[in-house]
Amino acid sequence: MAAKHKIIIIDDEDVVLDSCTQILEGNNYTVVTASNGTQGLKLVEEVDPDLVFVDLKMPGISGTEVLEKIAHTDPTIATVVITGYATIDSAVEAMKKGAYDFLPKPFTPDEFRMITRRGLERRRLLQETIALRKEKEVLRDNYAAIVSHELKAPLVAIQQNLYALLGEQSDNLTKSQKDRLERMKSRIDDLNKLILSWLRVLSVDINNIKGSFTNLRVQTLISKALESVEPHAIRKDIEIVTTIDDPNSSILGDEVSFTEALVNIIGNAVKYSYASSKVFVTVKGKDVVIEIEISDSGIGIPKDELANIFTDFYRGKSGQVVEGSHGLGLTISRRIVEVHGGTIAVESEPGKGTTFIIKVPALTI
Ligand code: ADP
Repeated sequence: MAAKHKIIIIDDEDVVLDSCTQILEGNNYTVVTASNGTQGLKLVEEVDPDLVFVDLKMPGISGTEVLEKIAHTDPTIATVVITGYATIDSAVEAMKKGAYDFLPKPFTPDEFRMITRRGLERRRLLQETIALRKEKEVLRDNYAAIVSHELKAPLVAIQQNLYALLGEQSDNLTKSQKDRLERMKSRIDDLNKLILSWLRVLSVDINNIKGSFTNLRVQTLISKALESVEPHAIRKDIEIVTTIDDPNSSILGDEVSFTEALVNIIGNAVKYSYASSKVFVTVKGKDVVIEIEISDSGIGIPKDELANIFTDFYRGKSGQVVEGSHGLGLTISRRIVEVHGGTIAVESEPGKGTTFIIKVPALTI
């Protein structure tokens, strides 16, 4: 048989306590009562209830205070305020303070039973949500551990051996053998990058980069990002045009991560642009907010995809046909920008192009 639900009723009127106990008797409930707030809170500690009814108007410690203390002890305990019609306003106030529902006096047994069922359902849902969240965290941690230990470690070993083999045997290999080994090297590099992106998404460490924030010039960040992106741009004959209002514009941040975000977004602009076109990187503002705009005249993003592009592993139709697309770049970039106190917005028109706008607080020196 399922465990009995534990209910506490706190009210200074004995008649309310007696009638409520009677109404719930015989059901699968354990009902205990208290005639003031102090006693009630003591019971909450002892009983660990699922649901607590609290009268708002009691002598001594007030109903609102009782509610606050219960919410502090365990926010999953459902609380229902019992109130006279004259104090509906304070019931609304109490609900703002965390009470789940309210029960105006006088009430019928059916109303009381219904509110009890609703309160218990609320408690069940809250507990279920917490359990699921915990389960998700455990899964994520395990997954991160599996990816980093079981996948990354052997891959690094393969990579190192391959590099050594290529170095040692370089004089003895035919051209086609060398080409094949080079292709293996390149695929392993891709896999390594993918694993690193997974770990970035899974791990909570993005928040930890705050500890290593230093003063960074935006110009330097963009130059570093362009170093990574330019080989691809050259292959597609795409010119990246950079305009920076003030070369001294600076932010407080983590150089490696912020560059990573820029590489993802400028890299996308190149990836989703037509050959022989231009990508514009423009930096505006310097005093309060710095705006970095990355604009392409590529294939654009359909309206129904726009809302999803910052979701983990989401790839738009265009992303699904482009090589090296994993749907992680924008998720990671957004998190990085947010840790820097900034935002990313996007505007796009299919067939015309896309503009990403990053806004970050400026460092005023
Ligand atoms: P991916 O590795 O798929 O590029 P992202 O998270 O970087 O992953 O991007 C998610 C999706 O957003 C892509 O699959 C693509 O459909 C779309 N996208 C991102 N940037 C652009 C852009 N500049 N132009 C067109 N589509 C883009």
